[in-house]
Amino acid sequence: MLDLIIRQGRVDDEGPLADIGVRDGRIDQVAPAVREEARRELHAGGKVVIPGLIEPHIHPDKAFLEQKMPNRSGTLEEAIRNTAALKARYTAEDVRERAERVLEWAVRRGTTTLRAHPDVDPIEKLMGVEALLALRQAYADVLDLQIVAFPQEGIIKAPGTEELMREAIRLGADAVGGCPYNEAGITETRRHIDICFRLAAQHGLPIDMHVDFADDVDDPRYTTAEYIARKTIAEGYQGRVSLGHVTTLGAVAPEARASLFELLAQAGISIVMLPATDLHLSGRKDRRTVRRGLAPAKELLAAGVNVAISSNNIRNAFTPFGLADMLQIGLLLCHTAHMGSPGEQMAVLRMATVNAARAIGIGDVYGLAAGRQADLLVLDTERVADVLVDQPDRLYVVKRGQVTVTTHRTVEVHRGPGTRSGERPAAGPSRQADRIREGGVPR
Ligand SMILES: [Zn+2]
Repeated sequence: MLDLIIRQGRVDDEGPLADIGVRDGRIDQVAPAVREEARRELHAGGKVVIPGLIEPHIHPDKAFLEQKMPNRSGTLEEAIRNTAALKARYTAEDVRERAERVLEWAVRRGTTTLRAHPDVDPIEKLMGVEALLALRQAYADVLDLQIVAFPQEGIIKAPGTEELMREAIRLGADAVGGCPYNEAGITETRRHIDICFRLAAQHGLPIDMHVDFADDVDDPRYTTAEYIARKTIAEGYQGRVSLGHVTTLGAVAPEARASLFELLAQAGISIVMLPATDLHLSGRKDRRTVRRGLAPAKELLAAGVNVAISSNNIRNAFTPFGLADMLQIGLLLCHTAHMGSPGEQMAVLRMATVNAARAIGIGDVYGLAAGRQADLLVLDTERVADVLVDQPDRLYVVKRGQVTVTTHRTVEVHRGPGTRSGERPAAGPSRQADRIREGGVPR
């Protein structure tokens, strides 16, 4: 007896509909027809099924601060300054309430694993880490929550931070964060990176740093990707380092790109693009032809680098927008990174699923295949290729084989007399399901 069967889901636009059988929290089989019985069945009726969305980089502790102190200049400097001022007034209840709202939104929109970066510094101390540790327990049935000890205010610049990071790790943080550009000069920036690697090695943890978040390559504090890649290889840390933002990769001279991107791929570094923030804070000094400030996603993917996306911030000085919705972030990237062809849209969907899973170290247990954790999403659309453009309702979210979210929505259109109620608009031109591919669906 299986625990759950999702019947007749669209898992691949070119193959037949599939039944997905689940036992003991894992996918038991994916087949055109599962013969066994189950305690519960969901009828997908041809709707799309994908693995649960992964949010690999988000800051729940500083969400929803925008209304308290808006970022008037729209720059990274003011975002850090305003947030530091607000942090001094945090209470544990306030942090927990705002963080919980983010988790709630993420779960409702189909995120089944989330990596949070709470600030760890002499202002906030361990308030964010403690709030998220409590929420990790409270949300254990619906969400896997990883916690990164993130030194937003710098390490050298903010004495006492390294000790606080050690304490965060002792309490249960899963990864070592970093913010090496927020130091006084390149010497301190490199020392910051070295401290992160040392802490990670001492505790056997992965590394996930915010780096190279600027428009130009003229300040060496914002061009550390090569240093980090070489250090990753030297320390034997391949596959265990993720870097957020890395927008200056887009400003690297064309002739220097191939060797740098090859080095990043060789180091197994994951790049986590944060388009909502990157687009909002970048190009602020440009008076004409405003730059988008994104890492060059397509070139990086072509070079074999693992590239993921994430929300980063929800409605604060860094990003005044956000729903903690990975499909919304995906569509934003499609628009702004010139990733509109069917194959490119599928690549973006992988950045929110399989690539994001790899970026946070769960690539070997994640995916829509037998033996993998049964974290699944049934979407209100009928082609995998339409997931980003349709932004469909998340009809069912399944976490470790349990249904954790159901969405029911009724929309009625009231037309004038003489039309039949419930009439559907005429179908558009027939679509060719074989235009997609270039790597296929997230599995
Ligand atoms: Zn961030």
